[in-house]
Amino acid sequence: MTPSAPALNPPVRILMGPGPSDIHPRVLQAIAKPTVGHLDPYYLELMNNMRVLMQGVFRTKNEMTLAVSGTGSAGMEAAVVNIIEPGDSMIVCVNGVFGGRMVDVATRAGANVTKVEKPWGEVFSPADLKDAIAKAKPKVVGIVMAETSTGAWQPIEEISKLVHDAGALLLVDAVTSLGGVPVEVDKWNIDVIYSGTQKCLSCPPGLAPVSFGPKAMEIVLGRTSKVQSWYLDLTMLAKYWGSERVYHHTAPINMTYALYEALQIVHEEGLEACFTRHMLNHKALKAGLAALGITYTAAAGHQLPMLNAVRIPQGVDDVAIRGGLLKRFGIEIGGGLGDFKGQVWRIGLMGYGSRANNVYVLLSALEQLLAEQGHKFDHGASVAAAAGVYSSVK
Ligand SMILES: *Cc1c(COP(=O)(O)O)cnc(C)c1O
Repeated sequence: MTPSAPALNPPVRILMGPGPSDIHPRVLQAIAKPTVGHLDPYYLELMNNMRVLMQGVFRTKNEMTLAVSGTGSAGMEAAVVNIIEPGDSMIVCVNGVFGGRMVDVATRAGANVTKVEKPWGEVFSPADLKDAIAKAKPKVVGIVMAETSTGAWQPIEEISKLVHDAGALLLVDAVTSLGGVPVEVDKWNIDVIYSGTQKCLSCPPGLAPVSFGPKAMEIVLGRTSKVQSWYLDLTMLAKYWGSERVYHHTAPINMTYALYEALQIVHEEGLEACFTRHMLNHKALKAGLAALGITYTAAAGHQLPMLNAVRIPQGVDDVAIRGGLLKRFGIEIGGGLGDFKGQVWRIGLMGYGSRANNVYVLLSALEQLLAEQGHKFDHGASVAAAAGVYSSVK
């Protein structure tokens, strides 16, 4: 019997959640281009060129900069399993879901993990890590730069100094930060970094840009045990990305086209212009939300522009608002995770999705839905507040 199933017909959404974000139309077109073989000269050339584009967004000269086949979590796993050998000491900073995930990944890889915790929404200062580093003498310290579950923006530079003074490596999660705020791999002396395609790069989920610095590569190449994951073993992946071009696994060709195009778009705009745009739209959204009495979970000065985690006002029904946004307005925002479930909304302004019209549409929709819930505010004030921010920079 021939199975029958409905025709593929995904709805058109405005993706303003924690990822995936709105995909740039040029990126969707790139995916539809003809597939070539993974050893085709065209593809090999494309990989070389894509490395240069990735080095550009990471702001690094690291030769070992490549795209891992898999989502951001595969990048996390690749970063950890290549550095860690069973029994190694690792410190992981946990102030939200993704730090917690890194603990899990590192533990599975056999690391002896010391968890340093801060309340959700807060960030780490060097003082928070000093004692733990002295005690655990870690091989590597892992930290999340943009904690997507809390909207907190973690400064990296000072912590990097502390970590390196102690002779350890620094491993950074840049899944949400890359392409939205400055990420300075070389300047900040980050040894291992990973990201994803589906946040500020405006590309579907499916690849994970990673970069390993010289000290990290010394460790990878000097391992006494094999990397625990065959698929993510950098010593083998490097032979495909390097001049030998040894087959390891079939690269996701069309996803590579997507990421290539996405990176081109970022560089055409210019990184600094891209960061400025993210910050401006964040400020406009924030002003609009303030007019609705909605405040941020992260402390002032540490609020991510691309991921606005805000407290749900008292008496407002989380599920009704998010359901209304999706069903009536076609807008997706994120709910709270873990400790923040039912208390927080996560509004993404990532990459292509970081646009004034998205800010206006969301604020208008929120006004309508909040009014229906009996929430009190000045009608029209949120849109006007956002407009005020935009006109102040004209
Ligand atoms: C989204 C995200 C991840 C995981 O990426 P996936 O693409 O969902 O696998 C890891 N870290 C952070 C900070 C993220 O925001």
